[in-house]
Amino acid sequence: MTSRDVTIRGAGIFGLSVAWACLRRGARVRVIDPAGPGAGSSGGVVGALAPHVPENWNEKKAFQLDSLLMAEGFWRAVEEAGGLSAGYGRSGRLQPIADEAGLALAQARAGGAAQLWQGQAEWQVIPVAEAGAFVPPSASGLVIRDTLTARMFPRRACAALQAALTARGAEIVTQGEDRGAVVWATGWRGLLDLSEAMGRKVGDGVKGQAALLGFDAREAPQVFVDGMHIIPHADGTLAIGSTSERDFEAPDAVDDQCEALIARARLLMPQLAGAPVLQRWAGVRPRARSRAPLLGAWPGRPGHFVANGGFKIGFGMAPKVAEVMADLILDGHDAIPDGFRL
Ligand SMILES: Cc1cc2nc3c(=O)[nH]c(=O)nc-3n(C[C@H](O)[C@H](O)[C@H](O)COP(=O)(O)OP(=O)(O)OC[C@H]3O[C@@H](n4cnc5c(N)ncnc54)[C@H](O)[C@@H]3O)c2cc1C
Repeated sequence: MTSRDVTIRGAGIFGLSVAWACLRRGARVRVIDPAGPGAGSSGGVVGALAPHVPENWNEKKAFQLDSLLMAEGFWRAVEEAGGLSAGYGRSGRLQPIADEAGLALAQARAGGAAQLWQGQAEWQVIPVAEAGAFVPPSASGLVIRDTLTARMFPRRACAALQAALTARGAEIVTQGEDRGAVVWATGWRGLLDLSEAMGRKVGDGVKGQAALLGFDAREAPQVFVDGMHIIPHADGTLAIGSTSERDFEAPDAVDDQCEALIARARLLMPQLAGAPVLQRWAGVRPRARSRAPLLGAWPGRPGHFVANGGFKIGFGMAPKVAEVMADLILDGHDAIPDGFRL
């Protein structure tokens, strides 16, 4: 055991999840974020917990699979402790198959999933007619249905973690002193700070815009079509996302790219034609140069750690990120994949 006091800098999904894992192991936890929980890219609306395709397996895909399989228990414990819903549900996902080539690929991946997903979920090819009422048009008449994908509501998930942490005695404050081990989970701005401190670029931010519609398909699987996530939430809203912008000036501003996204969603899923837009939202994802999470000790800065680089799958990675960070900080046990280190 190396420390029982932990200070987390940054109250996004990474910081809050690491805080929760440390708290559950008996640490005294303080979370410090000048902007408050969910103020960064974790305060959005999309929330696809979607697996990597089951092929060309590597440590990142294996880590993500573990995390997706941990998610149900992780979020149940959070909800029980704090009394708020994170909107988690293992809703599954549908993807249309366009043609023969797409079908051959989907069938190969079904075989990959049978081998790699440890019998915990399936990747199937099924006729559209068996896929329910909220299904994307498919030129082949077939869709992929996977049973591993889950959904959650990012902003609610942050609030649920905040409630759980507070109920169990953690402090969440806008400013304060470091106490014990310090974890920097400061999102894309943190990657810029880290790059400056290390004298080389380790990562930056990629802006994304998304929208929330009033359309109740809460019992339906989410849809992934033409690179777009369409996610029916448990509260009767539906999220669509996202743009991916390497160059941006206004991190939080929505613009005509969001309108284009909404228009494209309505073309891809004609059922959404009359659904009102409840909210437009923009945030900046923390992207490491490696595109993998950046986890572990901060080199040359004893007692300081980094948990960053969630990029497009930060919510899916969070349960396992929290576990390996708590292992390292509290028990000195390093289970971080080599490709994730600073
Ligand atoms: C449009 C969009 C759609 C997305 N869709 C999905 C999805 O479907 N599924 C998925 O898994 N992921 C998705 N993501 C990615 C996911 O949101 C991110 O990976 C995740 O939010 C990153 O969390 P984080 O805690 O690292 O960073 P953040 O949430 O950005 O949190 C960083 C926090 O650090 C604080 N901070 C900064 N500097 C300091 C400092 N010096 N001291 C203290 N605090 C500081 C900030 O105020 C902020 O609250 C999406 C992102 C976007 C933008």
